Amino acid sequence: MLDKVVIANRGEIALRILRACKELGIKTVAVHSTVDKNLKHVLLADESICIGPPSATESYLNIPRIISAAEVTDSAAIHPGYGFLAENADFAEQVENSGFIFVGPTPEVIRIMGDKVSAINAMKKAGVPCVPGSGGPLDDDDDKNKKIAKRIGYPVIIKAAGGGGGRGMRVVREEKDLLKSIQATQSEARSAFGNPVVYMEKFLENPRHIEIQVLADGQGNAIHLGERDCSMQRRHQKVVEEAPAPGITQEMRKSIGERCARACVEIGYRGAGTFEFLYENGEFYFIEMNTRIQVEHPVTEMVTGIDLVKEQLRIAAGRPLSISQEDIVIRGHAIECRINAEDPKTFIPSPGPINRFHPPGGMGVRWDSHIYTEYRVPPNYDSMIGKLITYGENRDVAIARMRNALNELIIEGIKTNVPLQKDIMADENFQHGGTNIHYLEKKLGMS
Ligand code: ADP
Repeated sequence: MLDKVVIANRGEIALRILRACKELGIKTVAVHSTVDKNLKHVLLADESICIGPPSATESYLNIPRIISAAEVTDSAAIHPGYGFLAENADFAEQVENSGFIFVGPTPEVIRIMGDKVSAINAMKKAGVPCVPGSGGPLDDDDDKNKKIAKRIGYPVIIKAAGGGGGRGMRVVREEKDLLKSIQATQSEARSAFGNPVVYMEKFLENPRHIEIQVLADGQGNAIHLGERDCSMQRRHQKVVEEAPAPGITQEMRKSIGERCARACVEIGYRGAGTFEFLYENGEFYFIEMNTRIQVEHPVTEMVTGIDLVKEQLRIAAGRPLSISQEDIVIRGHAIECRINAEDPKTFIPSPGPINRFHPPGGMGVRWDSHIYTEYRVPPNYDSMIGKLITYGENRDVAIARMRNALNELIIEGIKTNVPLQKDIMADENFQHGGTNIHYLEKKLGMS
C-alpha cells in the first residue's frame, strides 16, 4: 500500500480522502491555504503544510507548491480530489515526472478526456453512443456551420471543447442566431478556459442526466458500478443526485455499463471515473467523461457497499481490481442533497461564521462535511459546505429519511440552501421520480 499521501484539496472531499487513507493505514499530509488552517482534515492529518494565501491560484492551484509539499514530506502519492487540479493533465504529468504517484488516470488519458471533442471521438470509436453533432471543432466558415446545424436539426447547442462547471454553452434555436452564438461561445471559451475551440451538438429538449460510475486498474480490468441520476440541476450545476436512476432497468444498466467498462479498457483508463450521459426516450447519449472522483460518489457507495476512494488508492498503489463485475449488486436507494452556504432564493453565496451546528443522524443517514460550530466559511471557494446522503431499502424510504434529516440539520449564522432542498424533497414530481434537467429551473421560475 502507499505509505503517505498528500491531499491536494480542501473541504469535505479532503476529509473524505483522509478518512479513506486512515482506514488503509496510509499516512496523510494536508496542504492548505492560510484561511484554511482550521479545516477539520488539517487538524486530523499526520502532517500539514500551508501552501499559500487564500486565493486558489496561489495555493490549491499552485502546482510547484503542492509538489514541493510532497517532496519535503517524503510522500508517495498525491490525491487531487475534485475541482482544482483534479483534471489538469499538466499537473498529473508534473506529479509523475517528479517521482510521485498521481491518484487518477495517466496524463495522456486526462488530456484526451479533458477536451470534449477528442473525448467524444474516442467514445464513438469505443462504441459508446454520443449526441449527434459536428464531430469536431467548428471553424470560421459560416456556410459550413449553417449546413452542420441544418443536418443536426435545430435546436443545437454550441459547447466549448475545454468547458466545465456548466459554463461555455449556448443553445441556438434558429439559424439567424447561429453565427453570433458561435462567436460568443468562442470568446467566452477563450477567456474562461484558455481554449477557443467550440463544437456543436443536437440540443436535447427534455433529457435526464444519468451517469455511469466506473473503476479500472489500468491493467486490463474495468467494471461499472451502475448509474446515478443527477437531473436536478440549476444552471447546469447538480443540486440533488440519486442512485439508482428511477426507471432504469437491470438490462439497461448492464448494457450501457458494460459499454463504458469496455471503453475504459480500450482507452487504457485507470482509477475511478464517470461517463456522463443525457438520457431521452430510452436512449443514452454520451456528453463527457470526468476523470476523477465526483461530488456525488457517495450515493453509489451506499447502494453498492464499495468505498470508491479506497479503491482509488488501491489502484494508485498498483493493485489489480479486487472486485469483479459479478460482485457489484445494487441494493436499495440513496439520495444526496448538496448543502451550500448560499441564500436559498437568490443563490448569492453566504460565507461567514457558523455559530450553531447540529448534524442529523439515525439509520441510513450519512453526513459528509468538514463544518463544525464556530467554523468560518471562507468567501474564497465553492459554496458547498456538506453533502447529506440518505439510504433506504427503496426510494420512498430514502426520501422520507432525507426529509427527516433535513429537518434535523441545524446550521446557524450563515444562510444555506436547506429550505430549497426541503422543497425539492416535498415536490410531488420529484417524489414520483424521473424529472428532467429543466425541472428545477422551471420550478424556480427561471425558465
Ligand atoms: P460541464 O463540463 O460544464 O459540466 P457538460 O457537457 O457535462 O458540461 O454539460 C452540463 C449540462 O449541460 C448537462 O448536464 C445538461 O444539463 C446540459 N447539456 C449539455 N449538453 C447538452 C445537450 N446536447 N442537450 C441538452 N442539454 C445539454
